[in-house]
Parts: sequence; C-alpha cells; structure tokens
Amino acid sequence: TPTASPVLTARRLHVHYGGFTALDGIDLDVSPGRITAVVGPNGAGKSTLFHCLAGTLRPARGSVRLGGRDITALPAHTRTRLGVARTFQQLAVFPSLTVTENVRVGAEQGRVTDPGAVERTLRLLALDGPVRALPAAGLPTGTLRRVELARALAGAPRVLLLDEPAAGLDTAEVAALARVLKALAADGMSLLVVEHDLDLVAGLADVVHVMTAGRIVASGPPGRVLDALGSAAGR
Ligand code: ADP
Ligand code: MG
Repeated sequence: TPTASPVLTARRLHVHYGGFTALDGIDLDVSPGRITAVVGPNGAGKSTLFHCLAGTLRPARGSVRLGGRDITALPAHTRTRLGVARTFQQLAVFPSLTVTENVRVGAEQGRVTDPGAVERTLRLLALDGPVRALPAAGLPTGTLRRVELARALAGAPRVLLLDEPAAGLDTAEVAALARVLKALAADGMSLLVVEHDLDLVAGLADVVHVMTAGRIVASGPPGRVLDALGSAAGR
C-alpha cells in the first residue's frame, strides 16, 4: 500500500550538548496509519530526537514540520494544541487528581474539545471501571501508563509520540498496549515509538529506524532491520 504524505517530518536535525553531538543530521517521517519506531542503544540520541519532535528541545539546526507547517520554534504546549501528543518515559500524571481528572486535563490541552472524548478514551484504555475515581497516586505502573496514554489521546491528536511506552510493563500489559497502538494506527493516527525493547518493536512497527551515536544507520520493515541487528549482535 502506498504511504500517505507524512504528518510530521524532521529534516537535518542537529543537537549539541556542549561539545558533544547528540543528533548529527536526523531525517524522519511519521506517516498516517503507520507505527514508526526508533530503536538504538542507550545514549544513541533517541530521547533527544523525541524532545525535538515534542518541542521540549530546540535543535541547533534543522526543522520539524507538522502537516507542512514549520513548528521548529513552537513550544511543546502549542504543538500539543496543534495535535502533537506525547507520553513520558518517566511517567507524568498528576498524583492527586483521579484517573478521570487526569484524562480530562489531556482533553483540555489537546487539539479539539470533544465532550465525548474523555469517556471514549477511558473505555479504550480499559479505565472506565471503578479505577476511574481513584487518585493516580499509588496506582500500579501498568495502570499509570494507560492513564498517560489516555491523557495523550483525549485531545484527539494527529500524531502520538511515545518514549519507551513498555518500560515497567509485564508481558500481558505489553501485549495489551500493542493492541491499542495498532488499533489507533488502523484508525489513521500517526505514531512514533522510541523503544529499546526490540521484541515489542518487532511485533508492532511498520517501519523501524536504527539510531547509533546521533545518526540513523538503518531503516526498513522490522523483519529485515531487526534481523540484521540480531545477527550483528550475535543473537
Ligand atoms: P537515548 O534516549 O538514546 O538513550 P539520549 O538522547 O538520552 O539517548 O542521550 C544521547 C546522548 O546525549 C547521551 O550520550 C547522553 O548522555 C547525552 N545527553 C542527553 N541529555 C543531555 C543533557 N541534557 N546534557 C548533556 N548530555 C546529554
Ligand atoms: Mg531515552
């Protein structure tokens, strides 16, 4: 199937931390109906790239575009309003707010205000039971990851950026997460997953980019790219 035009594009991104080059000319497309993954060892620059896309870091050079509009200079909250939603590697929910209230915050910060969005999103993430009325503080990691995802989705984003969404999840939770992400892509959303769990990526992504030392060194369907990685690593 032909790929629709990308919704989010990064071109020639460069980031330096002092004299250290963390991103050394990254090009990336995130397309509708697809799950795009970025994998690579710790320190490769995955989170730095993620920050440039989300708007929490300004690249030294290069551009980020959303639907053709240059958003390189826009702060994170403005990008959220325009339809770029994200989750955090370190969970970032409001501990004293209930599950429902956390999701409502996401709906208010998002692209469109849809009165049905909170309920729909709670249902999608299986958070519509009694747990919805509990404060986020004290909920298990697996539940908090779903709250975060619900918060990000409640604003009807065009693009969903996920930084290590499987961190801290057990096998069943990872499988449930994969099902939700695939359903979102099937609905036409654009997803970018930054992840070092190669097994998750293998079963999930449509296209994988391998990052090493601030560069993309291989790209393609997961079967091909991850097999090559596995042989290189002696798996
Ligand atoms: P990854 O997410 O792939 O593990 P990061 O983007 O977090 O990689 O980091 C890439 C490199 O940049 C690492 O060598 C890291 O130590 C360095 N780095 C990340 N953030 C900073 C920072 N704020 N200041 C200095 N160096 C940083
Ligand atoms: Mg990281």
